[in-house]
Order: sequence, then C-alpha cells, then structure tokens
Amino acid sequence: MGEKKVSIGNVAFGGKEIVLIAGPCSVESEEQLLSTARVVKKEGARVLRGSAFKPRSSPDAFQGLGKSALEFLQKARSETGLPIVSELMDTSQVNALAGTVDCVQVGARAMQNFELLKALAKTNVPVLLKNGLSATVKEFLQAADYLSKGGNKNVILCLRGIRTFETETRFTLDLGLVPALKKLSGLPIVVDPSHAAGKRETVPALAKAAVAAGADGLIIEVHPEPENALSDSAQQLNFSEFQKIVPELNAVAKAVGRKI
Ligand code: PEP
Ligand code: MN
Repeated sequence: MGEKKVSIGNVAFGGKEIVLIAGPCSVESEEQLLSTARVVKKEGARVLRGSAFKPRSSPDAFQGLGKSALEFLQKARSETGLPIVSELMDTSQVNALAGTVDCVQVGARAMQNFELLKALAKTNVPVLLKNGLSATVKEFLQAADYLSKGGNKNVILCLRGIRTFETETRFTLDLGLVPALKKLSGLPIVVDPSHAAGKRETVPALAKAAVAAGADGLIIEVHPEPENALSDSAQQLNFSEFQKIVPELNAVAKAVGRKI
C-alpha cells in the first residue's frame, strides 16, 4: 500500500483495495465504448479508460476521435457511474480534458513533455503518469516532481514497461519497481500489463504478477472485438477474456492480503 491515497472520482488508490481500470485503448464509437463500459463495470472495474487523443508512431494510424470521444466518455460515466481516465499529449488539450474527465493520463511518449507537466501542475486534476519508453526510475520520479512540486499532488504512477533489446514481449516490465517506487515516492502504483505484454495471451500472467508484487491498481485494455480495434489490436482482451481474469486476480489479491 502506498503512503498517500489519491482518488479518481470517488475511487481511492493506495489503500487495501486494488483498483481495476479497464476499457478500450481508443474510443472508437459510442456503442463500442458503452458496451465495454457496461461489461467491465459488471465484472468489477471501478474506473473506465478510453483515449480520445492518441499518440501514434505513424501519422497514417488512427489518431483518435477527439472531442466526440470526450462526449461518449461523459455519457458512459453518467450511465455507469464509473469515473473516467483519458490521455492527453499536449498543453492545448489541458482545458478540454481537465474539465471533462476524472483523471488525465500522461502517456509514455509524453512523460518528459515538461511544458505539459507544468500546465497540469497548475490544475488539481488527478494524473496517471506513465513511465517513458526509456526512462530511468530517477527520470520517472523527476517527472512526477514536476507535478507535485508544481502544486498538483494528485499523482498516480503507472508502470508500463520500457524498451529493451527483447522483442518477445512488447516492452520489458520490471515488477521489482513496484515496491521500489512505492518506497521512493509514497505514491500509488498502477501497472499496465496490456502495453507491457503487447499480446493478449500474456496479459493475464503479467496482471496477476503485478498484483502479487503489490500494485495498487491495474489498467487493462478491453475491446468488444479486439481483432478489429483501430489501435493496439493484438493486446486488448475481449469481454470473456476479461471476465476470466477477474476472479484469478481476486485470488492473488487475497493471497497477499488485499482485495479487488
Ligand atoms: C495507451 O494507454 O493506450 C498508451 C498509448 O499507452 P503508453 O503511453 O503507455 O504507450
Ligand atoms: Mn493502447
């Protein structure tokens, strides 16, 4: 358990309960988002994810629906009651997101966007800060300092793996960093097994290992038809795959004196 609790909406991170954040990589349509929101809520997720603005390696790839996605996210929140987390990449998106969502995600590619961190530091919006693709722990904590020392203490760290020479998993996830980061920062730690794995069959094992390692939450990508997803198709779980892992995660949580 982290020393400091941070809440997204009315959901606290850093206590005895491990929080499941779930939802699609990208918001693709109202129906795609709402159907996913209903299922993940029923299975025990407490926060809904879904990106409106996407940082993509290729300019030809789907860049996100933008503002209309934010409307769908608000609809999903009012229907299900789940608070929402959505990603932003640039200072120009701070106002649109900070007033709309319950938590903003700063993605791996934006972890060292210092102007963005400074702008978010001036707000109170909770920030889910992901580690950079090649960030050291020191650099990750310095990025978090931009937020907390700048005035925004509502910071949750998210481990999503780093780039190494290994290509069998998409990124290399060092779960030893869960206790290390807790000790160094006192902040709640969320693990993202989806981006670390890069393929859906590896997600359950990493998710369970993260719970065993002491994570305060997991963020898992879930899509009604992952094979047709407009981003991160290979790693998103379908509804039945998500349904299957929740009791397994519960069992691991119980074994380490926590609950989901
Ligand atoms: C995402 O959460 O969909 C995402 C782009 O994550 P990351 O920044 O960790 O690659
Ligand atoms: Mn994704």
